Amino acid sequence: MKEENAPLCPYCGQEMKKWKVPVTSTWPDEFFYVCFNDDCPYYIQGWTQLQTHQQTKASYRCRLDPDSGKCVPLPVWSPEALKDDIIA
Ligand SMILES: [Zn+2]
Repeated sequence: MKEENAPLCPYCGQEMKKWKVPVTSTWPDEFFYVCFNDDCPYYIQGWTQLQTHQQTKASYRCRLDPDSGKCVPLPVWSPEALKDDIIA
């Protein structure tokens, strides 16, 4: 049996992490692949964008949409946010 490799983030090329979907969410999936690389351009650019346009101190990380294979923004409010729910 070959182990399934984690997909690579289209923005920074790092392996994405399995992130457990909160039970309170309406998503039908058990987990998503999310890029938790703090140097990811997608994430870094999010801080600037949200601060400029919405005066919000927050950002988003790249969450892989299983259907389209594309990045969907997952909002985070700090660099540590949501990291407790990383499975692998
Ligand atoms: Zn990334």
